[in-house]
Amino acid sequence: MKAEIIAVGTELLLGQIANTNAQIISNALQEIGIDVYFHTCVGDNQERLQSVLETGLRRSDIIVLTGGLGPTKDDLTKETVAACLNLSLKLDKYSLDKIKSYFAKRGRPFTENNYKQALVPEGAIAIENKKGTAPGILLNKDGKIIIMLPGPPREMEPMLRDEVIPYLSKMNSSTIFSKVLKFYGIGESALEEKLEDLISKQTNPTIAPLAKMGEVTIRLTAKAENRMAAEKIIKPVEDEIIKRVGKFLYGYDDDSVEDIVARLLAKFNKTIAIAESCTGGLMAHKLTNIPGISRFFERGVVSYSNRSKEDLLNVNPDTLEKFGAVSEETAKEMAQGIRISSGTDIGVSITGIAGPDGGTPTKPVGLVYIGYSDSNICCAEKHIFIGERADIKEQSVNSAFHLVRKKIQDLGD
Ligand code: ATP
Ligand code: MG
Repeated sequence: MKAEIIAVGTELLLGQIANTNAQIISNALQEIGIDVYFHTCVGDNQERLQSVLETGLRRSDIIVLTGGLGPTKDDLTKETVAACLNLSLKLDKYSLDKIKSYFAKRGRPFTENNYKQALVPEGAIAIENKKGTAPGILLNKDGKIIIMLPGPPREMEPMLRDEVIPYLSKMNSSTIFSKVLKFYGIGESALEEKLEDLISKQTNPTIAPLAKMGEVTIRLTAKAENRMAAEKIIKPVEDEIIKRVGKFLYGYDDDSVEDIVARLLAKFNKTIAIAESCTGGLMAHKLTNIPGISRFFERGVVSYSNRSKEDLLNVNPDTLEKFGAVSEETAKEMAQGIRISSGTDIGVSITGIAGPDGGTPTKPVGLVYIGYSDSNICCAEKHIFIGERADIKEQSVNSAFHLVRKKIQDLGD
């Protein structure tokens, strides 16, 4: 079935708010195998909404509208839909009672304009709004399904999830299921080259590579009767991809590299301490976003000045003098220093030039050293990152996590 989404609201067109509802609804529809072909955004204007609706009714089986269901004059979604389909509006007693009790519970007076919210087109079903007053509306007429949901996401989302999606899943027999494979240490073009024959003959599942900062992902998407059947279609293609480039694979779906590092620390029962210079604690921040990490993360030190590198991390003043703060030697001493002073299994360090100033011909902006130390090895990786200050910090932390990930994985091998 083909669907489209119409977001109603002048504030969307003025750029005051982003059309996040369209994203949420599209995502939910694609998960149950409904193809979304159009997103439209239209202001609070009856004539233009009517024209968009007429177009939608011509080309789609399902139309989901959001916004414009409230009590005020500029809320005219259901009036326009009813007019378009030649339907009259009827009072929905149940919705009216709900709206009245919503006001009573909050000790607010029920004003006359709220009757408007309890009106639904004849033949439609009202969808209860547990988080607000305006009910949603579900209308199945002449082979078209029209769904109207309120604009505020916190009201819209539960109605979508609890009522609309279950209703539409019953109508539609196919599911779309995606699995994302995440790679690090291989570029997009190198990866595509290795998978070229698979990509060129793809149909079901589809294979979509995507390069993001510091990583490449491949999304495998299958269409089938149900999720299990879709997973079965994906499996052999995934196996073939892993056979070819599996050594670069580090995670799936929503896995972040810090999630993987946290899991590995737990698996091998290792503790870690972090010494950061140019990233100012960003690595520690990301690690501490993970619940339960206190068992493995001992401390993080932001050591910006040379003096703090000597005082807190025991970096040799001669090393700083001879090689500079941004150098392989300093990165190694920082990693070793933090590991020894904190008594952890692993020490990791980041030192670099995040810019925009401070670069020299031999040490350009973006030059970053990442140090690693455990009881057996002490090493450092050199990187040159491109981008703004914030990008360089992000990429540095990302690479530092990957270095730790690889080293712990090596411990397991
Ligand atoms: P209300 O009863 O609050 O008036 P409504 O259904 O009439 O709800 P609108 O008046 O169109 O909805 O929008 C109310 C608020 O909902 C907006 O100010 C905005 O914060 C949010 N909103 C509306 N449409 C969207 C959208 N497409 N994406 C994200 N947020 C939205
Ligand atoms: Mg409104």
